[in-house]
Amino acid sequence: DSTLANLYEIPVPDKATSEIRMKPPVPDEAPDFVKNVLGKMIMGEGDELPVSALPADGTYPSGTTRWEKRNLALEVPVWEPDLCIQCGKCVMVCPHATIRAKVFDPALLENAPEGFQAVDARWKEFKGWKYTLQVAVEDCTGCTLCVESCPVTDKNDPNRKAINMRPQLPLREKGRRDWDFFLTIPEPPRYGLIKYNNVKNIQLLDPLFEFSSACPGCGETPYIRLMTQLFGDRVVVANATGCSSIYGGNLPTTPWAMNKEGRGPAWSNSLFEDNAEFGLGMALTRDKQTEYARELVERLRDIIGGDLADRLLNTDQSSEEGIARQRENVAELKAKLQGIDTLDAKDLLSLADMLVRRGVWIIGGDGWAYDIGYGGLDHVLASGRDVNVLVMDTEVYSNTGGQASKATPMAAAAKFAIAGKPLPKKDLGMMAISYGYVYVAQVAFGAKDSQTVKAFLEAESYPGPSLIVAYSHCIAHGYGLEEALDHQQLAVETGFWPLFRYDPRRREQGKPPLILDSKPPRKPFSDYAMREARFRMLFKTNPDHAEELLDAAQKDIEERWEKLKALAQVAHL
Ligand code: SF4
Ligand code: SF4
Repeated sequence: DSTLANLYEIPVPDKATSEIRMKPPVPDEAPDFVKNVLGKMIMGEGDELPVSALPADGTYPSGTTRWEKRNLALEVPVWEPDLCIQCGKCVMVCPHATIRAKVFDPALLENAPEGFQAVDARWKEFKGWKYTLQVAVEDCTGCTLCVESCPVTDKNDPNRKAINMRPQLPLREKGRRDWDFFLTIPEPPRYGLIKYNNVKNIQLLDPLFEFSSACPGCGETPYIRLMTQLFGDRVVVANATGCSSIYGGNLPTTPWAMNKEGRGPAWSNSLFEDNAEFGLGMALTRDKQTEYARELVERLRDIIGGDLADRLLNTDQSSEEGIARQRENVAELKAKLQGIDTLDAKDLLSLADMLVRRGVWIIGGDGWAYDIGYGGLDHVLASGRDVNVLVMDTEVYSNTGGQASKATPMAAAAKFAIAGKPLPKKDLGMMAISYGYVYVAQVAFGAKDSQTVKAFLEAESYPGPSLIVAYSHCIAHGYGLEEALDHQQLAVETGFWPLFRYDPRRREQGKPPLILDSKPPRKPFSDYAMREARFRMLFKTNPDHAEELLDAAQKDIEERWEKLKALAQVAHL
């Protein structure tokens, strides 16, 4: 009421008098395209760019988020090497790939900046090597999930963990120097010394999805990051429209990145309603091109040599080592084909890379997979083709503002279900299991990260369709995401989100293909639900109805568990 009386004029000088200069949007050492095109967009001057500045064929350079230092976090994690047990859990949960670990030859420390921290690596295979855990302080969003995940606390000071949040500003300069040095440390060999099949070892693999614009604490991006750590140098990604297509591919920068050899995921986005088919098209193209390349190898056997032809056609590519061998074979092939002026040789040269195994990952959220794109997804799963589907299930249309989807659980309130969803969520996993030849897993990285890793490795190795339904906490659930890992744990402990893997290969071994990876529900559903506003809000508006729905949801959880338990006994399922 007193606004007008208290208004006063602030004189604006005729010209700017500040001595502080605007920093350039990206550093000087950034590539030209990043400086001249993306930098302008970051400054809000994209309208001034001529059309000719953009790639004519629609392809777009990847790995460009690394140049856009957002400095969002007020606090960032600081490592305490004396406490750290090098478990890799913090790296596993980070939604932005801003905390990373490396093991390396101590000789590399000669060039390290002053104060760079490293300790002896705790792997028998890396005896004599050093280990470091590094935070990209200018890219970290301060979500605290890494600190929450850390299992180690100082016995003498319960407030001190092996990583702790500290103010970012005083750490910025040193953090930048340390990070730049960290990036020069090579990734350890991908085969030979250790197997990358557990959280501790996977922390050492470079992520090829980094610094995305997802919300701080996002529950989807850790799955994508994990997928790229494991297989990123040989995947093609079909991304449904939704949160993941926005943080994954919005201008000006892209988080999909490449490794030091220049290999990384090829990514494209399609609509809600056709993304699975879009990915199937990628898989069919891959299969056809590989088939033709193999045919050409056979046809050109006399020219390229029988030994090389045999290696190209028969190398077992089920392991990292096999894939590395095949890449060497392909390099040898390309060298031999140079200068051979026949149509077949030219065709084979252009298709040679298709002789290396590559995976198609079809990814998106529940709005796509359960609802708008379900018909196509079902068609693709039924096709029997070798594709991997990752559904990051936030149980609501997160990107468009929280509308209910068929994944929304009973008793939760969402737009279009504001009085509480009266019916249970669709059981996408069970629907896919009904085919009998689809690999299916239901995972929650915050509850059991080892099971998540197993599911990704099995899905990728399965020579047919695979589906991973991944619990993804989300701001739409109505709580601070620093608690998200607890919520994942509770979702599993209450039986709301049972963990399982269904692997048709086990049937051939006479074993039940369905494996339950979580224990029977041991807490009431309300322990989980009442911590999230999406369930709690109904108790404010209609408590009796809310109570009824919660009881019905509890009953549904128990029935679903009994069904899963029974199916896990059946060998011919
Ligand atoms: S605070 Fe969040 S974004 Fe920053 S390193 Fe930890 S998990 Fe990653
Ligand atoms: S979670 Fe804690 S103990 Fe494990 S690697 Fe990270 S800082 Fe070290």
